[in-house]
Amino acid sequence: MIIVFVGPPGVGKGTQSKRLVSHFHLVHISTGEMLRRAIGEGTPVGVEARDYIDHGRLVPDDLIVELVGKRFETFPSAQGCLMDGFPRTITQARSLDGLLEKLGRRVDVVIELVADREEIRRRLLDRARIEGRTDDSPETITARLEIYDRQTAPLIDFYRKCGSLRQVNGMGTPDEVFNRILESIRS
Ligand code: AMP
Repeated sequence: MIIVFVGPPGVGKGTQSKRLVSHFHLVHISTGEMLRRAIGEGTPVGVEARDYIDHGRLVPDDLIVELVGKRFETFPSAQGCLMDGFPRTITQARSLDGLLEKLGRRVDVVIELVADREEIRRRLLDRARIEGRTDDSPETITARLEIYDRQTAPLIDFYRKCGSLRQVNGMGTPDEVFNRILESIRS
């Protein structure tokens, strides 16, 4: 099963991804984590991506598609996977379809996690205090939410037309949200 997880920053994708990955024994592909690792290691991708991330902007599609393409080279073809934070643009979604087609696979389920904007801001500010992420300052949070609405939200329609979209309420405790996600996958 190939699951794509979509939703604004702070909606709880990270927390729920970890649970889904261990529940279904999926490979976890998080482009945000891959980029943060590249920055930590000082690789050329990290050097190029850093400024975009620190300003809350999307890293260019070609860089992301190359990163994911490399990851897919070592992807066990029969295994399920959870795409977390990728794709974030329609161009990336089309590239993902192409990468999966080469493996004889396709996106099976797209989960859109939905939550109230005030709740999202509160969660992001809490995360900034706990994790110290450089892109969780109030200004960057505003930029990331605007960019989500402009560049990533159109993906929802793209996947709705494919018939694979499931919208899930992301408000409530992590357990409640996880149970809703499981139900949406079963339906
Ligand atoms: P995340 O951990 O998914 O919230 O990603 C953190 C930051 O990494 C984002 O704000 C973007 O700057 C960058 N990023 C992660 N994934 C992508 C992607 N698929 N396309 C473009 N930029 C991305």
